[in-house]
Amino acid sequence: GYSSTSGIPGVRERTLIAVKPDGVHRRLVGQILQRFERKGFKLVGLKMLQAPEELLSLHYQDLRKKPFYPSLLHYMTSGPMVVMVWEGHNVVRTSRIMVGDTNPAEARAGSIRGDFSIHISRNVVHASDSVEGAQREIQLWFHGKELIDWNCSDHNSTYQV
Ligand code: UDP
Ligand code: MG
Repeated sequence: GYSSTSGIPGVRERTLIAVKPDGVHRRLVGQILQRFERKGFKLVGLKMLQAPEELLSLHYQDLRKKPFYPSLLHYMTSGPMVVMVWEGHNVVRTSRIMVGDTNPAEARAGSIRGDFSIHISRNVVHASDSVEGAQREIQLWFHGKELIDWNCSDHNSTYQV
């Protein structure tokens, strides 16, 4: 497999990216997914679901005491989400840059939030913020068998091998 042919550190790093309910309602799923495809990351998991509140409370467990937490959960349960797992070198950190600042008013033009959103409470997309956080979130949102190990044919064009 490719893992034995590539010595790039962290090439198998994974992150959780989710199109939040506002992004789905606004028909942004395709454009958001395309950003990660065109960058060169590898899609290894993808599904649409209406997230149960229990799952969201685990996903956002560190924010439970924040004043915005009840409205955050209301927003996140207001419609379906599309959750994805993307794999590649430095994908956690690079994805955060591609997604942009939490507050869309501060997010750079060219980032997803910078290009598609205005207010912090409707910022269209989620991205894990650390490698450890990503592992936790991926396990929350996906069963192991839903994640596909596959060799992308352009791997050697994307990475130095
Ligand atoms: N959020 C909010 N108001 C705030 C801060 C955060 O509504 O003042 C929401 C927003 O949707 C954000 C999510 O809570 O994306 C999670 O917050 P976090 O600080 O983890 O930001 P993120 O990692 O999504 O950039
Ligand atoms: Mg976060």
